[in-house]
Order: sequence, then structure tokens, then C-alpha cells
Amino acid sequence: MGSYRLGCRCGAAVEIGPGLAGGQVDCPGCGDSLEVPSLRELSRLPRATPAARPKTTWTLGHALAAGGAVTALLSWAVAGFLVLVSPATPSSEMIRRAVRSAPLEDLLKAREFFSTSGVDRGITLEEARVQLFNTRRRGVAIALGTLGGVGAAVALGGLVLAARGSRPRST
Ligand SMILES: [Zn+2]
Repeated sequence: MGSYRLGCRCGAAVEIGPGLAGGQVDCPGCGDSLEVPSLRELSRLPRATPAARPKTTWTLGHALAAGGAVTALLSWAVAGFLVLVSPATPSSEMIRRAVRSAPLEDLLKAREFFSTSGVDRGITLEEARVQLFNTRRRGVAIALGTLGGVGAAVALGGLVLAARGSRPRST
């Protein structure tokens, strides 16, 4: 046997079980004493089964919370990945190691290059490509980070909304 909702004239409703049939309950809204119908008339009242509770319903708040959280997680994950995979600026140790392991032929070519280009050499195509890639990647990472922030904010708003929606209605 489920329970039933007994409405009061103040607008509040009290949940009653069959054990209260024919008795009296105090209204949670106004404190008035309410007459509970007899067991036979009880079945005419709207049912208040646990399954009908709004707890299991998918509200806008839940949707926003889930959608926002997913957006935030995905955006931040990709942004974090983009930041982490950034090729490190070559350290002097990396350059030393590369020079040590380079074939003599390459070293001679490099010597030729540096002896003719001087210090103010122009940017190489490869460096320009890396710079452009880094600029773009940074931009995408910032955009994704911002998107993640928006997602997190939406998720928070959704949580607040969902918490408000799951509260028992007093009207
Ligand atoms: Zn009342």
C-alpha cells in the first residue's frame, strides 16, 4: 500500500498512510488539524508513492549540470593536453647533445650556414612553422580553457537549480 496526499485549504499537503485513515493529522503548512478520510475514501486521494517523487525526474538543472560538467571536463582535458604537449624550447643541454650526435657533414653545413648568415639571420621556415603552431595552439588552449570555465559555471548553476527543484514543493 502506498501513501496518499491529503490537501489542506492553505495549499499545503500532508502525506498519509492507510494507518491514519479516519484519524487526524496536523497540516505541516498552517498547523490546522486535518480529518483523514476513512479507509474506503482514502483511495480517492492522489497517490504519493515514492516513485512519483520528483527526485528521479530529469530536470533542466540536472541537464545543465551534466552538460556543463562534461563540457568543462572535455575542454580542460584538451586544453591541458595542448599545453603539456608543447615542444620545449631547446635548452643548451639539448643543443649540445644534438651537436655531439650530429654527423660531421651536418656540422660542416651548419658551420657554413652560421659563418655566412651572421647573428641576425632570418627566421627559418621550420622555426616560423613552430612559432605559428605554438601561437595557434596557445589560442586554442585559451579558448578551450574559457569554454571549460563557462561549462563549469553552467554546471554549478544547474546544480543549484537541481537542488532547488528537488526540494519538496510547499504549494
Ligand atoms: Zn494547512
